[in-house]
Amino acid sequence: MMYAPAISLGVNLRLLAEGPQVGAARVIRDVVVGDYNDEATVCEFAAGCDVITFDHEHVPTRILRGLVADGKLVRPGPDALQHAQDKLLMRQRLTRALDAPAPTWRHCLDPAGLRAFGDEIGWPIIAKASRGGYDGHGVWKLAGPTDCERPFTESKDASAGEPVEIIGEEFVDFAREMSVLIVRSPSGQAVSYPVSETIQLDGVCRETVTPAPGLSDAQASEIARLGLDIADELQVVGMLAVELMQRRDGRVVINELAMRPHNTGHWTIDGAHTSQFENHLRAVLDLPLGDPRARDPWCVMVNVLGGDVDDLTGELLHCFARDPRLRVEFYGKQLRPGRKVGHVVCYGDDLDQVRNRARHAAGHLMGQIKEGR
Ligand code: ADP
Repeated sequence: MMYAPAISLGVNLRLLAEGPQVGAARVIRDVVVGDYNDEATVCEFAAGCDVITFDHEHVPTRILRGLVADGKLVRPGPDALQHAQDKLLMRQRLTRALDAPAPTWRHCLDPAGLRAFGDEIGWPIIAKASRGGYDGHGVWKLAGPTDCERPFTESKDASAGEPVEIIGEEFVDFAREMSVLIVRSPSGQAVSYPVSETIQLDGVCRETVTPAPGLSDAQASEIARLGLDIADELQVVGMLAVELMQRRDGRVVINELAMRPHNTGHWTIDGAHTSQFENHLRAVLDLPLGDPRARDPWCVMVNVLGGDVDDLTGELLHCFARDPRLRVEFYGKQLRPGRKVGHVVCYGDDLDQVRNRARHAAGHLMGQIKEGR
C-alpha cells in the first residue's frame, strides 16, 4: 500500500521480502528475498538505499544500530523504534518522561512477582511479553494466582532465545478502544489524524470508525496532544499509532505504540486528504506533510478476514453493483481462515448507513452474508 504513493511521488522502492510470494513482492520490481533477522542480508540490502523504512517492527534493534553506525538513514531510527518493539521500554519511558496515562503496571521478574502484583491490585490481571507479540499473541488474561506460570513458560517457547520480560498490568474494563495516528518528519513537523474508535475481536482489529463517535472536541484535542508529545519525545520519523483504551469514566490510557502505517489508519487511503502511506513516505523523505483531515463526516473501515470465499475478486460483482462508493483493498495474501486479507472502506454523512454498507461488503467477502450469491 506504500507502493502506490511511491509512484505518485516519483520514489523508487526496493523491498526486502521474507519470500517471493508476499503481497508487496508481487507488485514491487526491485525485490531482495532474505531474512531481516540476518545482519549480513540487511546490510547488503541497505547498501544501495538512500533511506530505510519499515512496514513492521521486527527487524532487530542491534542490526538497525549497525546501519546507523555505518551512516545509513534509518527512519524511524532504532532509538525511537525500540519503543514499539519493546512494551516494557515503552511503559518505562512514557511514564518517566511524560507521565503518560497507563494502566497500573509492573515489571515482574518471576511468577511470584506476578502473583504479588495481582494480589495487590486485584484479579484478573493482564500479563504481556515485552517483545514479539502481535494480534493478541503475547498477551494473557490471568484469572488468579494459579495462572501466573503461563506467561513465563509460553513466552519462552515463542522467543527464539531472545530475552523476553513480563509486564503485569491492571485489567482495564474498557468502554472502548481507540487509536490516534501521528506523522512526524525529521525536521520536526508533525500532524495528527482524527481519533478513531477501533473494534478488536480476539486481539484482531475488525473495524474502525472515524472520528470516534461521542468524543468531545476537548478530548480529541487532548488525545492528539498526547500523540504529538509522544512523537516528539521519542523523535519518531514516519507514522506513529498510539493505541488507547477508554475507561468507563471517559479517561484514556495508552495500550501500545506502533511505528509504521497501521491497520487502524487504513481508512485514510480513501477517507483522508492524505493517506497514512503517503504521509509516511513524505516524512521519511523529509518533505512537507499532507493534510490529514477526513474528507467526509464519517468513515468506517472493516477488515476482510479469510473465510470460506476463495475467489475474492469474483465476489466484487455483488459488492460494487450494490454500492458504487465502496472502496476495497486486497493485500494479495494467501487466504487462510482468520487472516487479514483486505479491507473495505465507506464514507458519508450518516454513520449508521456508512457502517451498514461497510459491514455488508466485508460480510459478503468473508462469506458470512449469502445475499447476492
Ligand atoms: P498486541 O501486541 O497483540 O497488539 P496489545 O498490547 O495491543 O497486543 O493487546 C491486545 C489486546 O488485548 C488489546 O487490543 C486489548 O483489547 C487487550 N488488552 C491489552 N492490555 C489490556 C489491559 N491492560 N486491560 C484490558 N485489556 C487489555
